[in-house]
This record gives sequence, structure tokens and C-alpha cells, in this order.
Amino acid sequence: MARIGLLGGTFNPPHVGHLVCAQEAHERLGLDRVLLLPARTPPHKAVPEDPGPEVRLALCERAVAGDERFAVSDLELRREGPSYTVDTLRALHEHRPGDELTFIVGADMALSLLSLATWREPGEVLRLARLAVAARDGARSEEIAAAVAPFHDGTRLDRFEMPRLDVSSTLIRRRVAEGRPVRWLVPDAVAAEIAARGLYRPGAVAPGHPIPTMEEHPA
Ligand code: ATP
Repeated sequence: MARIGLLGGTFNPPHVGHLVCAQEAHERLGLDRVLLLPARTPPHKAVPEDPGPEVRLALCERAVAGDERFAVSDLELRREGPSYTVDTLRALHEHRPGDELTFIVGADMALSLLSLATWREPGEVLRLARLAVAARDGARSEEIAAAVAPFHDGTRLDRFEMPRLDVSSTLIRRRVAEGRPVRWLVPDAVAAEIAARGLYRPGAVAPGHPIPTMEEHPA
């Protein structure tokens, strides 16, 4: 049995906040591996400036390359329609019935657990996976625990600490659009891929277009 963490998101693009969150969950919760799980169509959020799911998948693969603690799952990208957590967990469970799944929620998404009752099949979500929340402040943690309590036996919610990193994909896209550096905010391999594909610049190439040459997009 392997202990698998799942970090869902749009990853447009992946950045150090995602990777540190995955790392801390891996270490603090004793996980064998953390999978980045890029979403095709998040149920509650359109993907702004979306270069397309295949490109976001490629960026995730670049982000984790060479780090055996992490991997990328294309499960949500292969399915049509919105990616509800319960559907994803069911599919993963079928693929790897012996594994214990932990669904990781970063601090800026933690408050979404306050409305867990409105998620599709919240009891089933907690039966199929443990939930792990990157803790930020204590009071909200108690509120989150109370919101989750009706759906499990008290053993399925974990917290872990992580350093606060005020980085978002929105910030990365804005900096690239403004021609500012993103080094140290994203892995070098992700920065290289963004540059090679000419992503997030004003008038960036549409999804499906061939990768532009460096001459077309000089650094
Ligand atoms: P955007 O700016 O486009 O809304 P984002 O940076 O918030 O994107 P997502 O792909 O939506 O990134 O996030 C996926 C997961 O990673 C969520 O659980 C989120 O809480 C977590 N996460 C994102 N940024 C950070 C960060 N800086 N620190 C910790 N966790 C983060």
C-alpha cells in the first residue's frame, strides 16, 4: 500500500507555492508520493489565460522532473466536463485500490472546506480520501474541523504547517506579461518552457500552435 497525496489545481503555471505545499505535505504526513493533478475545467473557476490543458500538463511535468517525491497525473485532463473531486477520487481508487489517498488543500483554498457540505458527495469524498489542510491560523482551523466533522469519524482530517509563500499563478502570468523575471518563483525548467512557448505574453500563441522558436520570442 502506498500513501499518495493529491494536489489539485489549475497550475497555470506551477510555481514554488505549489511545490513547497507538496513537499511539506510529503514530509509532515509521511506520504510516499504527491501527485500534481491539473484540472481540465474546475467546477467553480474558469481558467484565465488558459494555454490549454496539455500545456499546463507539460508545465507540471517540467516542474516535478528529477524529484522522485512528486509525479503528475493526467487523470482529470483525460475526462470531459467539470472535475468534481469525488469523481477524481473514485477513478484513482479504481486504478490503485490498495493505496491510501490524501487530498491536499493549500492555505488559500482551505476556506473552501467551510462549504464542504455543498460539494458533490462530501461523505464519499472523505471515505475515499483523507483531507490534509495547510494550516495558517488556528481559529479558522477549528471552523474547518467543525465544517468537516459531520462527514467523517474524526480521523480523516489532517493539518500540516508550511512557510507562507505569497506567490500565485496570477502573479507569475502578470510578471511574464510585463516582461519581468520569474526566476526563483518557478522552477528553472518551467521558466524555460514558458519562454520557449511564448506563454502569457500579450498576444501569446493560442493553444495547439507549434512551439515558437527562440528567434520569434527572444529572451
Ligand atoms: P491562480 O493565481 O491562477 O488562481 P493559484 O496560484 O492559486 O492560481 P492553483 O493551481 O489554483 O494556483 O492552486 C492549486 C493548489 O495549490 C491549491 O490547493 C492552492 O491552495 C495551492 N497553492 C497555490 N498557491 C499556493 C501558495 N503560494 N502557497 C501554498 N499553497 C498554494
